[in-house]
Amino acid sequence: MARVYNFSAGPGTLPVEVLETAQADLLDWHGTGMSVMEMSHRGDAFVSIAEKATADLRKLLDVPEGYSVLFLQGGAAGQFAGVPLNLMGDAGRADYIVTGNWGKKAVKEAGKYGDAQVAATGEADAFTRIPPRADWQLRDDAAYVHYTPNETIQGVEFPEVPDVGDTPLVADMSSSFLSQPVDVSKFGVIYAGAQKNAGPAGVTMVIVRDELMGRANAQTPMVLDYKQQADADSMLNTPPCFAWYMCGLTFEWILANGGVEGMAERNARKARKLYDFIDGSDFYRNPVAPEARSRMNVPFLLADDSLDKTFLAQAEEAGLSTLKGHRSVGGMRASIYNAMPEAGVDALIDFMRGFEKDNG
Ligand code: PMP
Repeated sequence: MARVYNFSAGPGTLPVEVLETAQADLLDWHGTGMSVMEMSHRGDAFVSIAEKATADLRKLLDVPEGYSVLFLQGGAAGQFAGVPLNLMGDAGRADYIVTGNWGKKAVKEAGKYGDAQVAATGEADAFTRIPPRADWQLRDDAAYVHYTPNETIQGVEFPEVPDVGDTPLVADMSSSFLSQPVDVSKFGVIYAGAQKNAGPAGVTMVIVRDELMGRANAQTPMVLDYKQQADADSMLNTPPCFAWYMCGLTFEWILANGGVEGMAERNARKARKLYDFIDGSDFYRNPVAPEARSRMNVPFLLADDSLDKTFLAQAEEAGLSTLKGHRSVGGMRASIYNAMPEAGVDALIDFMRGFEKDNG
């Protein structure tokens, strides 16, 4: 078996132990004589899988009473619509802090349902820094403030949760979910597609403060309605059963490896190593302001971009896969999610050092 180090931004690498458990369970889950893909979602077996995954996620993030945890479909992009439909309410107004491509898409989608304003954007700086809090144009009567704690494409991450006063804070946490502890009580809604740190594509987790539910716009599709989904334990219709099960296995893996605190410690070490190497070289560079650098997605540019293709081809040959940067940034991007072992980052740095020596 030849597993590569997979630096894909998502779907991203999964822990090998999780894949092995899924493989062992595939034909016959726990003596049921069937795979999780073939089970009724209403049967005892799947309900036990779903309940365990939900309880483990609550444990991992220490989700307080008064919050519901939902496993929905439609991706994080589905929540770009789900959030305004559920929360905009009578005010019909929401403020967005845009620090990269995903925040831009979120505010555009929300604009279909109400007055979604860009309250601050880092676009003038090509999204290489977070606009200073003092410059944010927040409105007192906004139903919520939305931000993207980690922008997957630009590799820009908020170092802390912003203070927006009493207005509910909504976070698209897709690419930093479960990578570190988070104080859920500071948020109105947290949502995240699974396919980076939590499991395979196909399921989107939404953690929502209960008091914000039950005020969805009448046009809201029932599958996006937080209250209806919470009342139905996320089974208003057939849920993404297999993806939910895979998330459950991943949650068990995180719990067995030090929880989100353990992940945070390892992720900080991995990111520090890589940024230190990039900063110490004239051959590579990362354009993001140091205080806003992502621990999950590390974009880097070669001083001579005519070498990009050779870099990527040789990296692929060396078992370092999917390092191509997003077209809007160019260059390379190494996504180093929870399941990327430290040895993968070491291998990448060794390769980069050798490539610089041969081409610098
Ligand atoms: N938000 C962020 C921060 C993302 O990284 C992504 C996917 N890369 C999305 C939203 C869109 O997620 P999905 O494809 O699950 O709709």
